[in-house]
Amino acid sequence: MNDWVTTAINIIEADFQRSADTHLFKLEVPKLSGVDIYLKDESTHPTGSLKHRLARSLFLYALCNGKLKEGMTVIEASSGSTAVSEAYFARMIGLPFVAVMPRKTAKTKIAQIERYGGRCHFVESAPQMHDEAVRMAEEVGGYFMDQFMYAERATDWRGNNNIAESIFRQMEREPHPVPETVVMSAGTGGTSATLGRYILYKGYKTRLVVVDPENSVFYESFMSGDRTVTRSCSSCIEGIGRPKVEHSFQPDVIDAMIRVPDPSSVATILWLEQLTGRRAGASTGTNLWGVLQLAEEMQKNGRQGSLVTLMCDSGERYLDTYYNADWVAENIGDVQPSLDRLAAWE
Ligand SMILES: *Cc1c(COP(=O)(O)O)cnc(C)c1O
Repeated sequence: MNDWVTTAINIIEADFQRSADTHLFKLEVPKLSGVDIYLKDESTHPTGSLKHRLARSLFLYALCNGKLKEGMTVIEASSGSTAVSEAYFARMIGLPFVAVMPRKTAKTKIAQIERYGGRCHFVESAPQMHDEAVRMAEEVGGYFMDQFMYAERATDWRGNNNIAESIFRQMEREPHPVPETVVMSAGTGGTSATLGRYILYKGYKTRLVVVDPENSVFYESFMSGDRTVTRSCSSCIEGIGRPKVEHSFQPDVIDAMIRVPDPSSVATILWLEQLTGRRAGASTGTNLWGVLQLAEEMQKNGRQGSLVTLMCDSGERYLDTYYNADWVAENIGDVQPSLDRLAAWE
């Protein structure tokens, strides 16, 4: 058994060894002076999103805790990027992978998971995913990865080239090398937990601000301290915002939270495309809208410094949704007022 585990870990580490780090782009905003904005581009991982990091960490965590054994089925409750990235790693070490997801999940996402050899197992609605994954793991003697539980602890927050360490190293030669603020949204909450812990561990003066979309309980829970709040509808911004406070969301390492309206998130990715030619997913819009609020405040107060956030995935995945004006009008609302505000930066 140990031989198989050792081999599996080596395969994942060898893949990491062959991988390049992701770019930290400087965003040139015409009307902004004295404040530098940077975007860490997580869309360039082999599986297209920051979930590549999470999946690698979750597999190593499970392997090093003796939870994964040869031939075992790996199960996850995810219809999104996590399932895609986990399917990639499961295939790499020769384990069957099953993603439990709602029946109405888009065909393109199912195809992405199947491309990496994963299988999709359907439930009627999103709230059933977790329990079905637990049940299935028991039934087949498989292992439930449980991203919302383990994301915060699977990543080594002290370094080991985690996303925080990578950002601070890439910033070293910038005019303001220690960011005034790092902004991130929360899905599992794992990335913000790693960022916040790393900032505390290293003693940086950087603040961690978490942005939250509509229909998410993280903001409300952060403000009230109540972890039991729930909501019945789910977030329209893919990858972020949850109807309940997930275990991996760690409010104690977050300095402040900002609520971002969904039309502002979508408007910001349209504005980003105009500015840079790059398309990003809507959570990047949430992040960047938050950054621009902070930039405006800094400029108003005559403060200089740098702001860093993440480009979580590419917009090419969302041509039928966030980049389709009809879909946006129907599902998100009027983005024009937000576009008008963003135009002030041009
Ligand atoms: C998962 C995800 C996030 C949030 O990251 P967490 O570490 O899970 O909080 C943001 N954007 C996208 C596209 C994601 O898939």
